[in-house]
Amino acid sequence: MRKPVIAGNWKLFKSIGEAVALVNELKPLVSGAQGVEIVVAPVFTSLSRVSDAAKDSRIKIAAQDCYWEEEGAFTGEVSPKLLKDAGCSYVIIGHSERRQFFGETDATVNKKINAVIAAGLTAIVCVGESLAERESAQTFSVIETQIQGGLTGLAKEALSHIIIAYEPVWAIGTGKTASEGQAQEVHSFIRQLIARIFDQSVAGAVRILYGGSVKPDNVKGLMSQPDIDGALVGGASLKAESFSAIVCFNN
Ligand code: PEP
Repeated sequence: MRKPVIAGNWKLFKSIGEAVALVNELKPLVSGAQGVEIVVAPVFTSLSRVSDAAKDSRIKIAAQDCYWEEEGAFTGEVSPKLLKDAGCSYVIIGHSERRQFFGETDATVNKKINAVIAAGLTAIVCVGESLAERESAQTFSVIETQIQGGLTGLAKEALSHIIIAYEPVWAIGTGKTASEGQAQEVHSFIRQLIARIFDQSVAGAVRILYGGSVKPDNVKGLMSQPDIDGALVGGASLKAESFSAIVCFNN
């Protein structure tokens, strides 16, 4: 049984006060959500305060990125150890915006995953193809390269600390959602790939989230697909009303 995860990526939005207010607003709205893990990912500066505010709830905290070294002369970076200290249980790694704007590669994704797991946290590892790649029938090869590169060298035990998020780049922040069939096809491909790299039991247990314009009105259809185990939500996670409706998809 794979417990669904609904994670909200707040990106570069919300002051500390706004982030704390949002989590406080969310708490009563999601307290009755059935059989789902709830995660929010505020900006670094809000992590500690949002984590304190969420302590008496089921809402867990994610960071949106990290560095792979624990400490040292790495100006501007934050390590998984310090994210844990700030109250995080998860770290999003390899989001397409980081790949696109900040030079994230499969090699750096791999280093970050290792560091996150070593710190006792769970990595939410993002993969996804661009529109040009989909239109030139490269979706599966792009996903395979990202997964092989990101997970290279990991022991199969490490996979229990990894959640994969399939986020087609053309569906992020665009209002265009992959159809249930398009998403399921790639999720199933990822699961088979994990079985090939590790084994069937690892593949059967790993959770694969869909991300890309998930909204209250499309979450149920996506979640009805056999290989979709949750959602990574951007825009719709910034308002308590829409995010809680997504979290409560099962109610
Ligand atoms: C995201 O940021 O990971 C995302 C999926 O954004 P949106 O839901 O806005 O498409």
